[in-house]
Amino acid sequence: MVNNKIDVVTLGCSKNLVDSELLMRQLIANGYTVEHDPETPRGDIAVINTCGFIGDAKEESINMILSFAEAKKRNKLKKLFVMGCLSERYREELLEEIPEVDGFYGKFDWKSLITDLGKSYYKEWEFDRSLSTPSHYAYVKIAEGCDRTCAYCSIPLITGKYRSRPIEEVEEEIRRFVGKGVKEFQFIAQDLTYYGLDLYRQMKLPELVERVSDMEGVEWIRLHYAYPTHFPTDLLRVIRERDNVCNYLDIALQHISDHMLKTMRRNITRQQTIELIQRFREEVPGIHLRTTMMVGHPGETEQDYLELLEFVEKTRFERLGAFPYSHEEDTHSYRHYSDDVPAEVKQERMHKLMQLQEGIALSVNEAKVGETLKVIVDREDPEYYVGRTEFDSPEVDGEVLIDKSRVLEIGRFCHVKINAAMPFDLMGTVSV
Ligand code: SF4
Repeated sequence: MVNNKIDVVTLGCSKNLVDSELLMRQLIANGYTVEHDPETPRGDIAVINTCGFIGDAKEESINMILSFAEAKKRNKLKKLFVMGCLSERYREELLEEIPEVDGFYGKFDWKSLITDLGKSYYKEWEFDRSLSTPSHYAYVKIAEGCDRTCAYCSIPLITGKYRSRPIEEVEEEIRRFVGKGVKEFQFIAQDLTYYGLDLYRQMKLPELVERVSDMEGVEWIRLHYAYPTHFPTDLLRVIRERDNVCNYLDIALQHISDHMLKTMRRNITRQQTIELIQRFREEVPGIHLRTTMMVGHPGETEQDYLELLEFVEKTRFERLGAFPYSHEEDTHSYRHYSDDVPAEVKQERMHKLMQLQEGIALSVNEAKVGETLKVIVDREDPEYYVGRTEFDSPEVDGEVLIDKSRVLEIGRFCHVKINAAMPFDLMGTVSV
């Protein structure tokens, strides 16, 4: 007899998380008790939503599947299902290698998992999600897929062509969330800035953000995964003019040397990148920029790398993440280049870049000491309340540690006087 409990485990990015939340809503509608990312799996059924875009992520997904397969062999689990990017990309291989899995689903056919369980797919809950995030913020996926041709990237192979969601559909989803008390919306996609080109034949991100910003109850909108080429500059006006659009932009640049930007097929030059960043800073004073850099792509010389370091030192991104190149089958780089930068050189370049960034992050934070900032309270820890400013995206950026001089409510905004800075976090007291 299979009990009614299902464990759903999500690996990878926030876009995967949205799919898990959509699935969980349907499972709950079918009477299941669902637990997300349980410490110890308790259900008789488990669903692993996998990530498959680079080596480390693939390894993590396979290890997770194997650990649940092991539990099944020991009769601790009755049914095991796998979905998401890894099985979208390697379904045939996985079917052969891990026979303990009862069903493999890709990135877009997870709905058939519900019918395979002998249950119904509830169309009326199509846009409803069982949130796994704190109930005051939610990720909003405005599109699927990617039409860009970055040489190293396997994502278009997994997710297919760009598909924008109609503006009305995004608005409807947000209206429902506001009705449930969600205040903060993280806009995500593989490529946010391309939004609308497929569906409306023009870039519609500025209009979408402005329309959502007009909606009652929307307190914060934060923008992630922008792409630099053909950037819709009217978006800068919207960020500047709208108080509920965070003064924040996540835009992956990956590199700066013309040699590497060309090799990586980023369709932008060093000079164009520098001019774009300058425009951000001029048109949106105080904007906090998050970027991602890649080190060790085939062909990256010491000179290219030093150019990247110098650029990061000069540009002073408020937030920066970096990762080493991963040699991914079927990508342009895999077919045309050998993975010629040694692993230890990749690690050393990562390390030096993040060391430089840590110093920059600290000085960015130190400049906030003495300021009073609007903070949303995410949780209560033994010593502090923990929150974020408009410059902090959940999971990837720093936090604000607020002393307990006053009782605060989770999910509410407050104003915090910053009295200390650390490389990534701030400390402060609620100001009345
Ligand atoms: S924009 Fe480039 S890096 Fe990002 S998902 Fe598309 S192809 Fe990959």
